[in-house]
Amino acid sequence: MQGLMMNYPLTLDRILAHANRMYPHKRISTKMPDGSIHRYTYADLYKRVQRLANVLKNLGVKEGDRVGTFAWNTYQHVEMYFGIPALGAVCHTLNIRLFPEQLAYVVNHAEDKVVFIDATLLPLYERVADKIKTVEHYVLINAPKGIETKLPNVLHYEDLMAEASDEFEWLTLDENAAMGMCYTSGTTGNPKGALYSHRSMFLHTIGENQANALGLTESDRVLMVVPQFHAMAWGLPYACAFSGAEMFMPGPHLKPEPLAEIIASEKITVAAGVPTIWLGLYHELRKNPRDISSVRAMIVGGSAMPRSLIEEYEKNLHVSVLHAWGMTETSPLGTVSKLHAHHQDLTDAEKWDIKAKQGYAVPLVEIRIVNDEGEELPWDGTTMGEVQVRGPWVIRDYYKLEGASEQFTADGWFRTGDVATISEDGFMQITDRTKDLIKSGGEWISSVELENTLMAHPAVKEAAVIAIPDEKWAERPLAAVVLTDDADGVTAEALREFLAPKVAKFWLPDKIVFIDDIPKTSVGKFDKKVLRRRYADGELG
Ligand code: AMP
Repeated sequence: MQGLMMNYPLTLDRILAHANRMYPHKRISTKMPDGSIHRYTYADLYKRVQRLANVLKNLGVKEGDRVGTFAWNTYQHVEMYFGIPALGAVCHTLNIRLFPEQLAYVVNHAEDKVVFIDATLLPLYERVADKIKTVEHYVLINAPKGIETKLPNVLHYEDLMAEASDEFEWLTLDENAAMGMCYTSGTTGNPKGALYSHRSMFLHTIGENQANALGLTESDRVLMVVPQFHAMAWGLPYACAFSGAEMFMPGPHLKPEPLAEIIASEKITVAAGVPTIWLGLYHELRKNPRDISSVRAMIVGGSAMPRSLIEEYEKNLHVSVLHAWGMTETSPLGTVSKLHAHHQDLTDAEKWDIKAKQGYAVPLVEIRIVNDEGEELPWDGTTMGEVQVRGPWVIRDYYKLEGASEQFTADGWFRTGDVATISEDGFMQITDRTKDLIKSGGEWISSVELENTLMAHPAVKEAAVIAIPDEKWAERPLAAVVLTDDADGVTAEALREFLAPKVAKFWLPDKIVFIDDIPKTSVGKFDKKVLRRRYADGELG
């Protein structure tokens, strides 16, 4: 039909071209393994991505091939985010914290052809070297000359880049071609692969940059603590490039002290990471105060941000927390919890209640909650159901995995495995994972709510609640608690008294045990599977 818009494929090269054209002088900075800061611009990135695309072409990488990355957050890793898809190949970010068997499984399952490895991570990768079947070349990043390794066919990133041309003949790709791939962190069974397309990531980038979502602008300086292997660093490298925001990559420097330094000295405006990171940073800032007032949004997701920590940041450090929810399978952005106009007259305490929720669906993501029969439940703020989502950046099936279909409904929704309520005004609040809910005498107990309530006690640093078997009630809650360094003489009884006026009586944990650390998964979530095993082994009393 005449008069229609042009056919403009939504491919990622256009995001990079836009950054190069509009924001050539904006910087991408990296704290390198040796502590020095490497800086260059979007114009430099543009040139280097073309070199990288030529490097890959010279190595025989073809459209559709998977190329693995085993790396910290660095400018080279950003080059891979654009350079691998530029060839129509798939940037497969490998989780550096997987157990060796899982890592080998993931590389072999994806059939990676080339893998890029940060030299500092080489020993971790070498543990699986003899199990890998398809990798033809390994490319080391930041490796000293003459480094010894038992990996076969090893090349050096900068050598290859120096030899390649910095002019690449950009391809016209199908917007539905795959561009990236992440495996789930797999707390049960093998990790499962989610494959992102140019179109899905492009739309995700636009979605993420809306003012009602994360709303990055060219005045932002974004610190990406979330690893690039965790759901493509939540899409932030693309969102930064498209909006002209500056990126700061912390490399391996993920401890609270260097992060506090970076935020203060670089005048970071937006920082993104999981709650554990911000918990550590908060304690560091209490010990060694620094000026972090440049931060306009501390984006937090991956697990529930305790309400008490939101309050502490906002009240004591004047930093605004932006709670978001998503999954590897949803690219990841699903919901964000920004206050709406009708919240403005609420008290601070009421506002923190809202910010502790996971929030409303960003445009193009649809959410619903359903009961066990799959019937949709009301948005009344109290009815709990399983969260299902759909949208252009939500997975349709898993990569090369037969039989995972129970996670997809017949009418095209993805079953998240999260349980939540949704309020009348559309704010979702996650109460649990289906497998973590505690069923006591036929009634549900939310482990997340118990944890949040416990973590509001000033002596509690972290708390994880699991179900333990019980003859009478089928299951009862057990709370594993980590106390703060300055907590003195706090007893289980005192914590139970603290909880008593705040939760239903039958929710009160039968056992409260004190431990040194909550075990964490490869992406920093409470690993309740390990806690349950410890309990079964008699280690938790
Ligand atoms: P992953 O794919 O590793 O990011 O894990 C996704 C899961 O993390 C979700 O299904 C949730 O269970 C959990 N999650 C992510 N963000 C949040 C959040 N803001 N609050 C609570 N749980 C979250």
